[in-house]
Amino acid sequence: MMVNDSTAVFCADIGGSFIKFGLSRQVGVVEELAKVDMSVKSWSDFVAKLQDLLAHFGASLPATTPLAISTAGLVSPQSGEVMASNIPAFAGHDFARELTAILQRPVSVANDADCFTLAEAHLGHAKGGNIVIGAILGTGVGGGLVINNRLIRGQGGVTGEWGHAAITRTELTIDKRLYKIPRLPCGCGQTGCLDTLGGARGLERLHQELHQQHRTSHQIVEDWENGSAQANITVKAWLMLVGEPLALMVNILGPDKIVVGGGLASIPGLISELDKRVRLATLHRYSSPLVVVGKFVNQGGLIGASVLGRSSE
Ligand SMILES: [Zn+2]
Repeated sequence: MMVNDSTAVFCADIGGSFIKFGLSRQVGVVEELAKVDMSVKSWSDFVAKLQDLLAHFGASLPATTPLAISTAGLVSPQSGEVMASNIPAFAGHDFARELTAILQRPVSVANDADCFTLAEAHLGHAKGGNIVIGAILGTGVGGGLVINNRLIRGQGGVTGEWGHAAITRTELTIDKRLYKIPRLPCGCGQTGCLDTLGGARGLERLHQELHQQHRTSHQIVEDWENGSAQANITVKAWLMLVGEPLALMVNILGPDKIVVGGGLASIPGLISELDKRVRLATLHRYSSPLVVVGKFVNQGGLIGASVLGRSSE
């Protein structure tokens, strides 16, 4: 993937609630210009919102300044559709192609986990790696794959989505005690996906199931750091449940680095334990940390868009 750094690029990070909009004059650097509400009723509402932002901030720039978008949801490279359960206005549209025609400038789009992975591979904590996995441990579990600096999208844009396979374990032995692992319904329609127990909400559900006690993910990790026996069991279970599928990905793809984003990436002690757990379970013995906290945990969407908007795929 060639990156052309000579032009300015507008970057947008679209979630269910907000659009973060910025301008990048250099790859990896994005000046945030606006954060606007993303409650749109229709596709035309959404287009109008983008037109307003481009008109407002683009007056002194060439009319053909590209727009690169990081978005929630899966981006299908086959149909061009963005499937985001929390943004129904996107359904049925060939996203980038339609926007390119309407806005009369190059528009590119990628999933936010993919943008994070792209940012980490080009400019972050996986820079120089040939095979880079991005692992998002946010509200749920997501991910992306970049090989030789190029985003791998795959059929339906699902490449790297390791959160939606069923956890195969039904029980775990921790400190000589047996614990049942619940099979919970997942938002994707399946039952027992890693997504249900692997992200921040998953950690909370796991704690609830193991100890019949509600604690927030931050409380659980804080308790664990302070030596609580119950939180210790929860975190040990979590490390096994998340570490095993991650080790499977390592055996399949042979990555140079796995870069972690999302809310749980803000807890370095937890990610360092996850790294140890994964490296115990892989065929290749990694002699240095493999699973690391990302450099762009908070701005991965916009920074990744600044790479995406300059790339010729
Ligand atoms: Zn699922």
